[in-house]
Amino acid sequence: MQLSIRSLTKTYPNGVRALNNINLTINNGLFGLLGPNGAGKSSLMRTIATLQDADTGNIFLDDLNVLEQKEDVKKILGYLPQEFGVYPNITAEELLNHIALLKGIAITKERNERVKNLLVQTNLYDVKNKKLGGFSGGMKQRFGIAQALIGNPKIIIVDEPTAGLDPTERNRFLNLLSEISEQVIVILSTHIVEDVKELCSQMAIINKGEVLFSGHPADALDSVKGKIWSCQVSKQEAKELMQQHQVISQKFNTGQIELHVWSDSNVGNFAPAQPALEDVYFSVLNGFINKN
Ligand code: ADP
Repeated sequence: MQLSIRSLTKTYPNGVRALNNINLTINNGLFGLLGPNGAGKSSLMRTIATLQDADTGNIFLDDLNVLEQKEDVKKILGYLPQEFGVYPNITAEELLNHIALLKGIAITKERNERVKNLLVQTNLYDVKNKKLGGFSGGMKQRFGIAQALIGNPKIIIVDEPTAGLDPTERNRFLNLLSEISEQVIVILSTHIVEDVKELCSQMAIINKGEVLFSGHPADALDSVKGKIWSCQVSKQEAKELMQQHQVISQKFNTGQIELHVWSDSNVGNFAPAQPALEDVYFSVLNGFINKN
């Protein structure tokens, strides 16, 4: 499947232009939509999920016109919103069973089988009889994926799912998304660079409603090759260097500050730095890299 977003624009009634001529092509696999808070990620996700309209532009999922054939899109869509509420007094198994029934899996044996497989796949089988109100954040998110998968969706949208998860749960959750994405399109929005780093085969960086980069994470790293320089300095020196150079990031490191600087050639006492996706992200957001 291919999701094709063309010239998508959305301005809210309060005048905020949340999407400004968005163009993206997304294939099967895990797609990371990376951007800071307020970048327009949720607006884009909600539009793809047919929950809100755009002002102009179009979205096609193969031949399906997403903005017009909403009912058809809903049949093949799994959506996990940012705020995902669960009924606290019902068990994971009961709620999945109920949703499966609503989705039209009427034969009990077939439904039980499907629910069991989903619980196993999302690593929730051992807690299937636990009430959802007692679930941790990570368990809730995995449950969210289980319910999103019930209708065998071809496209799955998860909006900022890793915020608030501890590192173990985050990894487990991202691995689950990566496994699922072998067959379908999975779009993951996040403001956390690490989420996109290892598992996403495609990515985009957006800010202020505009796509500033789209491509493979390796291409993103290539785009800053030879341009990132680093040095360890005192706080005072860091302040001075920040006046003189295009500083990408600063990190505390054993009492000193490690600066990453953007430059076409070596400047002063800097050492070439092995580029990381963070360098790309901050270079793009600061406008050091031209958008492609
Ligand atoms: P993100 O998901 O990247 O944090 P959003 O899509 O939620 O970004 O928001 C993009 C911009 O649109 C922000 O400036 C936000 O305040 C604004 N916005 C989002 N939803 C609405 C709305 N329903 N009405 C007005 N402004 C909104």
